[in-house]
Amino acid sequence: MPELPEVESVRRGLEPLVVGKKIIDYEIFWNNSVERDLKRIKNKRIKSIHRRGKYLGFEMSVGYLVIHLRMAGTIGVSTEKIEKYVTVKFKLDDGNEMRLIDYRKFGKVWFVDKFEEVVGHLGPEPLSKNFDVDVLKKMISKRRGMMKPLLLNQRFVAGLGNIYVDESLFRARIHPTEKADKIDTKRIEKLYEGIVDVLTESLTFGGTTFISFVGADGKHGEYRKKLKVFNRTGEPCIVCGTKIKKIFVCQRGTHFCPSCQKN
Ligand SMILES: [Zn+2]
Repeated sequence: MPELPEVESVRRGLEPLVVGKKIIDYEIFWNNSVERDLKRIKNKRIKSIHRRGKYLGFEMSVGYLVIHLRMAGTIGVSTEKIEKYVTVKFKLDDGNEMRLIDYRKFGKVWFVDKFEEVVGHLGPEPLSKNFDVDVLKKMISKRRGMMKPLLLNQRFVAGLGNIYVDESLFRARIHPTEKADKIDTKRIEKLYEGIVDVLTESLTFGGTTFISFVGADGKHGEYRKKLKVFNRTGEPCIVCGTKIKKIFVCQRGTHFCPSCQKN
């Protein structure tokens, strides 16, 4: 699933291709993709593209086109006639088409007056100034649940998914099922650093590509090679050599080092 670095990479790839262009028409191939009517989008110009968590918000001359890629979506821009896996497409005034390409068909689009209508529920943006170690300490001190589902909760912090939660917890030596109120200050500091570092590093590599994700520029993210625990089941931990283990936490495949991350 595309997480913050993947969605941000899509945003950066799209910017030079669509900002300033007008959407002259659209076509819906999969009705369930549309969460809020698109009719008003016609003849609106794309002013800029924002991102909040895993949501993209295209600021139009009036209103916002919001897209969430969900499980396996990505956005492609071209003049070629590709219809395979396209769920929604937007015709631009330069002859290009911007398409939501989504073979799992879970991706969603909205047309709303304000971006906040869709993203208002999200927790802080982890790479923004208003997310710092003291904020994280305060946030965690109010929680009692397990760390993995807590970090996956978009209302707690926005943009993290399975990959970057596993990687951040490894860096902080926190077991994924450890309870939030058992984490001492030192490890919260490590967790803060871990979250910021994995996201920043991944962004410089254009995100992580597994099967389905390709950035808007058609390039694959290269961060996969840098992952320390995610998808490394049975391989040696880079710190202690113990085999990386995979368990399921709230039905999510979870990777960790049983020696470095004790509960
Ligand atoms: Zn280890």
